Amino acid sequence: MMSELKTSKRILMGPGPSDVHPKVLQAMATPLIGHLDPQFVQLMDEVKQMVQQTFMTKNELSFVVSAPGSAGMETCFVNLLEPGDEVIICVNGVFGGRMVAIAERCGAIVHKVESPWGSIITRDQVKYALEKCKKPKLLAIVHAETSTGVLQPLQEISELVHNAGALMVVDAVTSYCGMPLKVDEWNIDAVYTGTQKCLSAPPGLSPISFSKAAVNVLENRKTPVQSWFMDLNLVKDYWSGSKRAYHHTAPVSSIFALHQALRLVLEEGLENRYKRHQIVHKVLVSKLEGLGFKFLVDPSYRLPNLNSVFLPEGNDEGVIRKKLLDTYNIEVGGGLGAFAGKIWRIGIMGESCTLNHVNMLVGALEDMKEFKH
Ligand SMILES: *Cc1c(COP(=O)(O)O)cnc(C)c1O
Repeated sequence: MMSELKTSKRILMGPGPSDVHPKVLQAMATPLIGHLDPQFVQLMDEVKQMVQQTFMTKNELSFVVSAPGSAGMETCFVNLLEPGDEVIICVNGVFGGRMVAIAERCGAIVHKVESPWGSIITRDQVKYALEKCKKPKLLAIVHAETSTGVLQPLQEISELVHNAGALMVVDAVTSYCGMPLKVDEWNIDAVYTGTQKCLSAPPGLSPISFSKAAVNVLENRKTPVQSWFMDLNLVKDYWSGSKRAYHHTAPVSSIFALHQALRLVLEEGLENRYKRHQIVHKVLVSKLEGLGFKFLVDPSYRLPNLNSVFLPEGNDEGVIRKKLLDTYNIEVGGGLGAFAGKIWRIGIMGESCTLNHVNMLVGALEDMKEFKH
């Protein structure tokens, strides 16, 4: 006989998932209703409306993919790309690399724009790539690169992309609900995100939005979308219209949680939420620097909610990180790729973005005899 599920009460300060509000957890325990129950259909409508509000868009094709952020990423590419299409993808971390892998599986010819991990992609790099590429169908770029903690400026790139006749595709998984993301104002054509970062909902869903121009590309495809599950031509009738067509069974409990999490975001107000992330970030920076941590990213491009730091000299990051988890119940993230074993990624996202979280982490480090500072 298996023993009952038992986990420790962790404090989540890694790259996601982040801590979740008790009301959101409670929503998950609501008794199930059918996914075509009129009450659930109304809930889906409300979720869609709140997704539009949080993306700052009026896009009609805005809804939630029933799978995590990576599936939102894949949904954007499989719907917009056909074999032989030329695309430009910006790579300065793990998630740019993942976009390349997906686009190549769609049969696209990928032109990469690369910057070292920890740096942004510059406007000049984008300009040069657009000039060199004959007929770019889209340019894809990560807004908040969670593998490095870099915040990518988007507005200055958007105009170049559209002047070249291409669509702009943005990964907003880590920026969503934590920092300004203005889908309409910045002219973003396809955007996807995740629920477990600054939104502070459980993982497993991916809000997305397509502009009119993106829908136009979708409607004028010559070949069917290679994925049945992600084909937006089919999914959209499940999420909109007066008569809902069965497509798949939505993860009802997760949508309950998402509804509550979005409500909490809008109750706080997007601007207030962005401000809170900046304020807590500043305190975190000064306390960590006081302990001898060094930041990977230049202050002008630093993500407030995902802090990549080198430990003070003489510390084994793996040993300290394990002790933090085992003894203090605090999770921080390790480095990825070239930064594995070298940096920590400290997340202060959504419900994990409080001064208490900062104090718990700093207090634990000061208390730990293994930590040299
Ligand atoms: C977390 C993350 C993803 C992937 O999301 P999953 O929910 O893990 O599939 C994609 N892009 C970025 C920038 C992320 O931080």
